[in-house]
Amino acid sequence: MSRTAWRSRILLPVCLMATVLASGVCGTETNEISIDQLRGHVYFLASDYLGGRVIGSRGYRIAAEYVSSQLAAAGLQPFPSGGEDLGGFLHPVPAPIPDDGSGAAADTCYNVVGFIPGADPDLGREYVLVCAHLDHIPPIDGQICNGADDNASGCAAVLEVARLVAKDPLERAVLFVFFTGEDYEADPRLGSRHFLDHGPVERGRIFVNVNIDMIGREDTYWPKPGGITVMDSESVCPELRDVCAGANEKGSRLPLHYDVSQGGASDSRSFADAGIPSLGLFCGAHADLHRPSDEVDRLSFPRIRQVAGLGLVLVRELASGETELCR
Ligand SMILES: [Zn+2]
Repeated sequence: MSRTAWRSRILLPVCLMATVLASGVCGTETNEISIDQLRGHVYFLASDYLGGRVIGSRGYRIAAEYVSSQLAAAGLQPFPSGGEDLGGFLHPVPAPIPDDGSGAAADTCYNVVGFIPGADPDLGREYVLVCAHLDHIPPIDGQICNGADDNASGCAAVLEVARLVAKDPLERAVLFVFFTGEDYEADPRLGSRHFLDHGPVERGRIFVNVNIDMIGREDTYWPKPGGITVMDSESVCPELRDVCAGANEKGSRLPLHYDVSQGGASDSRSFADAGIPSLGLFCGAHADLHRPSDEVDRLSFPRIRQVAGLGLVLVRELASGETELCR
């Protein structure tokens, strides 16, 4: 065998393997999600400059303004708040937040809401609501808790899905919501419960909720290590699992596990409690949860990209006129 033939015998399979790996054994060649976009969002949102995005704090407000600017740049529209309206993407949420010494005293906090109208005159009256919580917890022993996984990872994914959906609107309207107060110890899930109780959308017009929370780690231990756990509300809408499984087959092909705890402690629980079909994409809990050590250097950006890719395909399926749910 000539040296050249030997090289081609070795190199061809290696190159083919490299091509397969680069394009993704898991079918990520269909994944439009930009890892650079994800990195940019996560590095900013989880920087010390924002102080952990504590509800009521200046750092939270900066995070909310950042998300607003990204939604505007992607071409999303503001949505009326249903109450006091600031005319932009910020929706005020009244909340008496006492001063705990971290400078987070306030009487108002903010959800951030972006809107993509539906293309169909009838189905456009229904909303697919995609969300992630933007807030995190106060410092522990003076150390900032940047919440890179919880939940800069989910916010980055939702921003990236919003950017891509805005390029090609779907039949149903899509709302992208960044909730405040999910991690507010005194009143957990404050932002999502306020959203449901006080507008801006009639509950009956929310077709489905997709929540993304903590999707950046691979070293998780609960509820099921590896793959991704779909925190769903099977009692509200069993066929949502079929839609999720179908979307997964079309792209990310992640191992899916299901947990029927109605979204656990995250915002999808607020929607499930309101009888709205909902599911949460969640990679699981780990030792750095709610600790100063939940930092960017422990994240897997390929994992975030895979889950965001699933989220994108799922949102497109749910917002298309082809999909009907149990309502
Ligand atoms: Zn979270």
